[in-house]
Amino acid sequence: HTHPVRRSSVQQRQAAAPDLSAQVAVAAYKNTDTTVYRNADGMRVDDGRYTRFKQDMRGILGEDRVVDDPVRTFAFGVDASFYRLNPQVVVRVKDENEVVDTLSVARRHQTPITFRAAGTSLSGQAITDSVLMKISHNGKAWRKHKIADGGRSITLEPGLIGGEVNRLLTAYAKKHKTETQYKIGPDPASIDSCMIGGIVANNSSGMCCGVKQNTYHTLQDMRVVLVDGTILDTADAASRAAFHESHAALLEGVASLASRVQADAPLMELIHKKYSIKNTTGYSINALADFPPTDPIEILKRLMIGSEGTLGFVSRVTYQTVPDHRHKASAFIVFPDIGDACDATTVLRNETSVDAVEIFDRRSLKLCAEMEPMARLCPEIATLPVDGEGAALLIECRGESEEALHAAIGDVCGALGGTGIPFTSAAGFTPEAFRHDPKDSGVFWDARKGLIPIVGGAREPGSSMLL
Ligand SMILES: Cc1cc2nc3c(=O)[nH]c(=O)nc-3n(C[C@H](O)[C@H](O)[C@H](O)COP(=O)(O)OP(=O)(O)OC[C@H]3O[C@@H](n4cnc5c(N)ncnc54)[C@H](O)[C@@H]3O)c2cc1C
Repeated sequence: HTHPVRRSSVQQRQAAAPDLSAQVAVAAYKNTDTTVYRNADGMRVDDGRYTRFKQDMRGILGEDRVVDDPVRTFAFGVDASFYRLNPQVVVRVKDENEVVDTLSVARRHQTPITFRAAGTSLSGQAITDSVLMKISHNGKAWRKHKIADGGRSITLEPGLIGGEVNRLLTAYAKKHKTETQYKIGPDPASIDSCMIGGIVANNSSGMCCGVKQNTYHTLQDMRVVLVDGTILDTADAASRAAFHESHAALLEGVASLASRVQADAPLMELIHKKYSIKNTTGYSINALADFPPTDPIEILKRLMIGSEGTLGFVSRVTYQTVPDHRHKASAFIVFPDIGDACDATTVLRNETSVDAVEIFDRRSLKLCAEMEPMARLCPEIATLPVDGEGAALLIECRGESEEALHAAIGDVCGALGGTGIPFTSAAGFTPEAFRHDPKDSGVFWDARKGLIPIVGGAREPGSSMLL
């Protein structure tokens, strides 16, 4: 990387793979004078460039928002992964002009930049030993929104928290008494902490959105600052036209890549197959297969999604929202063996249009049994054999109306009822297994959302949880 944007976590992981070339590279690092700057994770030292970067940035942002003391660089420099890099400096930017200025100063001094929204990334996406650009906790900065078309679309700045956005849509539906309530498509388990910038840049997806309602499929428009400081706003015809003029070579390159991919039938088939399952590792190269080469800006927009900030800074997005059905119910069905739970999942996938199915393994159930509300609603989890491989499925059905919900539940019970798959739960595969009270289903979903921190918290001291 010669431009001042950090390596993606994918590249970090590749670099960390225990193959021969990595060992040679590690040996080379060991022989390197650690006072000499090298543009690789863990090797960035201040050979004068960070001192100059900070000087210039203090002239633009002032003292307060250019942070280099050990306590705050440590605090801001941590994400939810087990990787550890300490930033040389953290800059707190409040608007797009400051992003453009920071990128320009970084280019001048060749100091790579990593963007950080809420820092809940699990694979080291939001950490760096160079410059960390932080958008969270900046007062009202990066937190504007605008709801349009009766809630069918919402324009957002990157510092809004996902759950907060859904609450804004709920309040809008209440205020305007709309027939349908909407929410954003992506639903990562961390939705009450993570921010739009991170949701877009990680192409996060969660328990219900799958691969169909993630940002890639529900994003309408994006405003993005490229590394060279250019701003492209795909919602603005003038901006698109100007970009065609100023970045003709880039767009030709994108179009030519798309043409090559689309002329290769086996490659097209492979891409379609890979992206029909959850596969958010690496760039969204399905963009090269899904859109005509005659519309390279559309392709570029989709390539930005999931690019972990390596292609540009997202300063605004417009989502097409998805219906958030008010009628829903969840069942937590326990099975004597994880194989039975898997068999039931296959039946649900092939024979029903169930909205969500999440599996809990024995270890997760053991931890759930220690949660009072879970133990109250599912007493059977406390009595599973200690050495068995018991498991559970959390199943959610939704409907536009109460009748549609009951029909969906009927389908699930009908499909599972005839299979002979053994179960441990008292209510088994009957409609009584489904909880309609949001407080009860909330207990199940809170347990699911909390699994990563719960399992992480229960790990042996000194060990790491791999995801
Ligand atoms: C308990 C827990 C549960 C989780 N569950 C899920 C899950 O179900 N599904 C899932 O997909 N992930 C999950 N995650 C991972 C993570 O929370 C999500 O990917 C989340 O969307 C990251 O958002 P963030 O605001 O924390 O972004 P950060 O971690 O701050 O950043 C994420 C990436 O986005 C880039 N970035 C941030 N802002 C911008 C911007 N404005 N422009 C360009 N790039 C930017 C950063 O450089 C980084 O590469 C979970 C994490 C935890 C801790």
